[in-house]
Amino acid sequence: MGQGISYPGVMMIANRLQALKPSPTLMLSQKASDLKAQGRDIINLTVGEPDFPTPSWICDGATAAMAAGQTKYTAVGGTPALKNAIIKKLERDNHLTYSAAEVVVSCGAKQVIFNAMMATLNPGDEVIIPAPYWVSYPEMVTLFSGNPVIVSCPQAQEFKMSPEDLEAAITPKTKWLILNSPSNPTGTAYSYEELWKIAQVLRRHPQVMILCDDIYEHLMFDGEPFHTLADVEKDLKSRTLIVNGVSKTYSMTGWRLGYGAGPSWLIQAMTDIQSQSTSNACSIAQAAAVAALEGPQDFIQEWRQSFQDRRNYVVERLNQIPGVECLNPQGAFYVFPDCLDLMGRKTPQGDRLVNDTELCAYLLEVAEVAMVPGSAFGMPNHLRLSYAVSLETLQKACDRLERVISSFQISDT
Ligand code: PLP
Repeated sequence: MGQGISYPGVMMIANRLQALKPSPTLMLSQKASDLKAQGRDIINLTVGEPDFPTPSWICDGATAAMAAGQTKYTAVGGTPALKNAIIKKLERDNHLTYSAAEVVVSCGAKQVIFNAMMATLNPGDEVIIPAPYWVSYPEMVTLFSGNPVIVSCPQAQEFKMSPEDLEAAITPKTKWLILNSPSNPTGTAYSYEELWKIAQVLRRHPQVMILCDDIYEHLMFDGEPFHTLADVEKDLKSRTLIVNGVSKTYSMTGWRLGYGAGPSWLIQAMTDIQSQSTSNACSIAQAAAVAALEGPQDFIQEWRQSFQDRRNYVVERLNQIPGVECLNPQGAFYVFPDCLDLMGRKTPQGDRLVNDTELCAYLLEVAEVAMVPGSAFGMPNHLRLSYAVSLETLQKACDRLERVISSFQISDT
């Protein structure tokens, strides 16, 4: 997966880290914060978190847990109360029935995926990852000696994998398919029919496990319903790991609370790994997650509307900038505009921008808008913007981008 980082004292570092790239999204977000701290007026569109505060009743759940002395270790895989709340949520929202032995609670969805890869991958095992992908999937696979099999799904196919693409990517070594819908970084989501067709391919290949990263489940727009593969095709449930959490839906990114639901043999293995690494997720965050999952859900509709308004705004504005082409995604809070036409253009300073990384760096420096280059997600010539900021901030960001991008000249050299 390209160049890893070089550490001081590199001789001491394990071979498995040679290829590891630190998260580019977190790095760019940090860079934007550092520039801000230096007094620059940076608009940060790199962050993958809602801008709303965690709802008060969820915070109250945490406070009550602390007051009640729930400040000690819990069962490694999660408290019975939280597992029960997750089981009810999966039944309510996804029509899927799980037992407590089929659910594990971890420190974020990220840890669930990490543990799943660690628990299952042997050297050379292949993991199919449609691109554009969330930055951590291929890195985690590589870390555990697996081979990421990247299936390119360009904008022309709405960044979605076709059943034919999937069929062609499966080999006897395929261990997992990772599906993320709605997607980070594109916001596109698979429809029921699209998932059904993918499911029919998977039914022909019983050795393939499926990881459904449903973290953006509740952020679907225009009244479109959310579907997860195991609900669409119940046959696949016994080899599906559902990954979800409270970070995005309840604006709880800092609480570090995610969960997985899947076959008990896998959940047991993932729990065993956790028992030798982090132990349980924070007891207070677990209580807060119970309050989130069992408390009022109607506020989600308001948040969804607010994200939808922002999506509408940002898509329209981006499409007005010559050289930028942006799809109208169905969910999450990202857009992933195509900027191929801007490649090779000259800045007023006379520099030629040859790739999306240079474009991003220039736009950060001159427009003071921080975004992430598409190449970080396995699809160059795009930019990822998170629109989880106020409409006012978005307007300012779009004004700046329009002004700076319009200043580029088509280069004749
Ligand atoms: N999966 C996807 C697709 C994400 O975008 C993110 C966060 O950005 C995660 C998983 C991780 O979520 P958590 O905060 O629960 O670890």
